Amino acid sequence: MKEYKAIYKCRKCGKSFGEAITGDERLARKTLICACLETPSGEPMSPTLYFPHSCDNGDLGVADFIGWEKEVKEEFEPYENGFLF
Ligand SMILES: [Zn+2]
Repeated sequence: MKEYKAIYKCRKCGKSFGEAITGDERLARKTLICACLETPSGEPMSPTLYFPHSCDNGDLGVADFIGWEKEVKEEFEPYENGFLF
């Protein structure tokens, strides 16, 4: 199973962090293009180009949307050889 996490990087402290997750690659691509064009995508989890960040030292920074990060997760398999364990 693939998931995409919207990644931002703070201009002030340099920390990267994830904000939104979707399993829909088409939606990730669409919202990425809309963010680049600064056009509303109409999707509820659509990332914006900028996001506020509370830095670890108390500073307040502006973070840039730098892209969707793909994560591949293994499917949960409760049974093996027909037995629940
Ligand atoms: Zn920061």
